[in-house]
Amino acid sequence: MGTLRWHFLLQSLEDLQKNLFQLGSCLLVIQGEHEAVLRDHVPKWNITQVTLDAEMEPFYKEMEARVRRLGEELGFGVLSLVGHTLYDTKRILDLNGGAPPLTYKRFLHILSLLGDPEVPVRTPTAEDFQRCRPPDPALYECYRVPLPEDLKIPLESLSPWRGGETEGLQRLEQHLTDQGWVASFTKPRTIPNSLLPSTTGLSPYFSVGCLSVRTFFYRLSNIYAQAKHHSLPPVSLQGQLLWREFFYTVASATPNFTQMAGNPICLQISWYEDAERLHKWKTAQTGFPWIDAIMTQLHQEGWIHHLARHAVACFLTRGDLWISWEEGMKVFEELLLDADYSINAGNWMWLSASAFFHQYTRIFCPVRFGKRTDPEGQYIRKYLPVLKNFSSKYIYEPWTASEEEQKQAGCIIGQDYPFPMVNHKEASDHNLQLMKQVREEQNR
Ligand code: FAD
Repeated sequence: MGTLRWHFLLQSLEDLQKNLFQLGSCLLVIQGEHEAVLRDHVPKWNITQVTLDAEMEPFYKEMEARVRRLGEELGFGVLSLVGHTLYDTKRILDLNGGAPPLTYKRFLHILSLLGDPEVPVRTPTAEDFQRCRPPDPALYECYRVPLPEDLKIPLESLSPWRGGETEGLQRLEQHLTDQGWVASFTKPRTIPNSLLPSTTGLSPYFSVGCLSVRTFFYRLSNIYAQAKHHSLPPVSLQGQLLWREFFYTVASATPNFTQMAGNPICLQISWYEDAERLHKWKTAQTGFPWIDAIMTQLHQEGWIHHLARHAVACFLTRGDLWISWEEGMKVFEELLLDADYSINAGNWMWLSASAFFHQYTRIFCPVRFGKRTDPEGQYIRKYLPVLKNFSSKYIYEPWTASEEEQKQAGCIIGQDYPFPMVNHKEASDHNLQLMKQVREEQNR
């Protein structure tokens, strides 16, 4: 987990602590390995019940099993709740005959059989806490939300995104006031290189549990019910949430979901291993301004638009570099505020045409893709200021500017900014052939 997400998480805990305090309760943060923490605190505080979020990730599934065994040993009850998804994914899988394969279309059909998801968990009020005895104030200091410096997290890199339910709810309300925008939302028409997010930007808040996906789902349903027309899945806003649910469902029943080996839904490909090229991609040194601007935004802010994720993921994998999606996924896992086991791996498999998506002949051009929605290159100028004085004609391919024009822009290609690391046309044609071969072999 990278620095930006650490800050986001600590801010979220800080906000939760503040909100609970206003309700007459508080949050005590215990640091340590879960088993040792429980062995220590269960007898000390006379704990009779441990409640946790049910998770897809094998790591947390194992943790839950261990907590249950410990409960039997130490005599506490364990309550595992489905709070991170709209549905209990087991119910969806049961209706699918137990396991993937599962297409989005079939998934929507199963949801229509299940009906609406469970209503959101109600926000607690002060009355809920009246029964509780507030903890001894001496405990607050001992179990306070840690500061970044306590965890040795560098302070210099702060994302403009602020963590916490308060901030997440504000963002939600802001978007939902524009009911026309909500009703007509069509994902492919949103803009990857707008200077402010053109989609809701709620993913970091869902990801660390600041916002309930069910609250969002029901608020959208209410708006749709009042609208004459509204967009539909897969492109509508509710459709986006259902993509999330879809990846959670498939991930929950797929062994080795975050890797290629031993993953039954993933195409087996001999990707190149090239640490130097991977490093250039990760550190925004590919020489393609559109790709490097996106990777810079990712480093600086921890969030990038979905189609921007498409662009850099395709470039790394089947488009240009032929490097494994697992490597890209790990970089996203470190840098994204919304990094998520199921969604991250699922989308990386999609973009690399390893699973879910099979129109592999569609390769994004690292020059034309961004130009379509931002011909002046404002986004590139913001994130790559070294290129900001190039005219719009050259901003996406500054290596084509003459020496004189480069001098005038104050940026010499090969010196102040790299040459493109590949010839896109040659690389993508070659990779297309490789992908064809892999598919033919595996079909056989
Ligand atoms: P909106 O368009 O406003 O959508 C609302 C919500 O729907 C999002 O907050 C998110 O929870 C969900 N959603 C939207 N698109 C998708 C999608 N394609 N798949 C699943 N859920 C979706 N999203 C993550 O939350 N965590 C990740 O680790 C992650 N990794 C990704 C990796 C790649 C290579 C790609 C292409 C996409 C990835 N996404 C990931 C999906 C998507 O890009 C983000 O969820 C979305 O951009 C978040 O912005 P938003 O909240 O404005 O989305």
